[in-house]
Amino acid sequence: MITVLTGGTGGAKFVDGLRQIVRPEELTIVVNTGDDMLWWGLYVSPDLDSITYMLAGKLSQERGWGVKRDTFYALQAMGQFGEPTWFNAGDRDLATHIFRSKLMAEGKTLSEATAEIAARLGIRARILPMSNARVETRVLTPAGDLSFEEYFVRRRYQDPVESVRFSGSSDAQPAPGVIEAIRSADLVLLAPSNPVTSIAPILAVPGIREALRESGATIAAVSPIVGEAAVTGPAGALMAAQGFAVSIAGVAEFYRDFLDMLVVDSQDAPAAEELRKSGLSVHCTPTIMRHHEDRIALAKSVVEAAMPLSAHAAPALHMMERA
Ligand code: GDP
Repeated sequence: MITVLTGGTGGAKFVDGLRQIVRPEELTIVVNTGDDMLWWGLYVSPDLDSITYMLAGKLSQERGWGVKRDTFYALQAMGQFGEPTWFNAGDRDLATHIFRSKLMAEGKTLSEATAEIAARLGIRARILPMSNARVETRVLTPAGDLSFEEYFVRRRYQDPVESVRFSGSSDAQPAPGVIEAIRSADLVLLAPSNPVTSIAPILAVPGIREALRESGATIAAVSPIVGEAAVTGPAGALMAAQGFAVSIAGVAEFYRDFLDMLVVDSQDAPAAEELRKSGLSVHCTPTIMRHHEDRIALAKSVVEAAMPLSAHAAPALHMMERA
């Protein structure tokens, strides 16, 4: 059994590789919901949507978010009403937000709504929100205290970041199945997602970090930092703002208390050698996922490298033969 902790765009590419080498019933994806927000009164969960669309084969590969070949007529029409249009909700994407909001208005939890959406789209892997409680990633900047989507989409992550907090996290509980998925997995993988705004919100939900520390599973993370920069987006600036080095060593430090293996890009081989001296297992492989084949190759390389560290290597090795 493999459990993945992930955000949206970087994580979705990694999950795309994994889904092609692992049986869906062996895969549980625990997703960041710190970016969730109400948009035009609808409950939007950007990272759950990216992972769901990816697993359903609907994700726009060009944009990395939203539904492929989507149109944006509703956005235009809402603009004519004078409503905000900075969040690019496509028409087909909106159907997901409407359906989720309908299920939640009927009393379903976010977990239940997520499972229902996945089932209707024919997804067999398990997708779990990190929590059913509202945990909101807030980014403090000189321009104000922003929601993650305001910081990231509306203001294109141009503001200097003073701090990041996860409002509501201390009272939140992990969604049903999350702790169990971490404890009972053979392998827990942290996708190459933004450590500060995609993985840290998950770790901020009480009980999840402890479960990772105590789990018998091998815990491996794929670095979203290559060389001295994030592959995409503001992860580097956010890590620096939190006092972490923008390097594979900084990523290792971020996950220090539970990490067994860090997977880094081949171009970081010299830094990997240095990091091994700390006792951490470091696996070097190409990690930039430009093409379809890169995603599968990375997923295979990670599972092959990390699974032998697991006490229960057999199930995944079996599934590797199938791939
Ligand atoms: P978000 O919620 O949409 O920001 O998505 P994620 O947090 O899952 O993904 C963003 C992170 O993925 C950034 O920190 C990137 O550096 C990283 N990333 C994106 N593409 C790649 C890739 O091809 N390889 C690696 N190693 N990291 C990537």
